[in-house]
Parts: sequence; C-alpha cells; structure tokens
Amino acid sequence: MSDCIFCKIVRKEIPAQIVYEDDVVVAFKDINPAAPTHILIIPREHISSIAVAEASHQAILGQLLLASQKVTAALGIEPDNHRLVINTGANAGQTVFHLHVHLLAGRNLGWPPG
Ligand code: 5GP
Repeated sequence: MSDCIFCKIVRKEIPAQIVYEDDVVVAFKDINPAAPTHILIIPREHISSIAVAEASHQAILGQLLLASQKVTAALGIEPDNHRLVINTGANAGQTVFHLHVHLLAGRNLGWPPG
C-alpha cells in the first residue's frame, strides 16, 4: 500500500535499521523500543492484521514466525529468552496496520503483559 509506513520501509523509501531480510520478510529495530532489544518482523506483502490473514497467506505466516530464529541468531539473543507479540486491533494496542511481530528481549518480561 502506498501510504503504509511499513510498506515504505519494505520499499526502502524511509530508513530503518534492518537486521534481517529475505524474499518474504523484513526485520528492523523498533523506533521506540520497549525493551533493550525490540525488533519488528513484517511480511513484505501488506496484510493489515493477523485477523484478516487468509489461508493463502499460510506460508508467509510460517516464514514470519520462523524468521524470529534468524533474528535471534543474527543478534546473539538467547533462543529461549525472548517474547514474540502480535497486537491485533486498535483496542489491543495495534497502531500500525501492517502485520508485524514484535520480538522483545534483554529485560525481564512479566506476565501477563499490560
Ligand atoms: P503496534 O503498536 O502496532 O503493535 O506496533 C507498532 C510499532 O511500530 C511500535 O512499537 C512503534 O514504535 C513502531 N513504529 C512506528 N513507526 C515506526 C517507524 O517509522 N519506524 C520504526 N522502525 N518503527 C516504527
């Protein structure tokens, strides 16, 4: 989508600190980190939310989650000490309507999240 900020990052029209990318996903540092390590992993394809993803997106969604392994390996994050979050809908804290997985690490992560 032309006016989607994450699509602009995918197209390299606006800068981002990219830590991993492949044919399907791009991962970059969150501009307002909520943890010492805060990475956003997004599909190149514009999907506004996991709530509207379709069966045809199955492979993309799998690669989106598996990309977290690439990111943790690239950044030297302990593979068993981080959290993946997908905020879904404005009432659940979603502010950017291009599907993204937050990868948080580097501090104690309480449960339940706020
Ligand atoms: P949400 O609230 O939708 O789950 O997460 C959106 C995230 O995107 C927020 O953590 C916010 O800090 C991040 N963000 C918003 N705009 C930009 C941007 O232009 N660049 C980067 N790197 N992160 C952004």
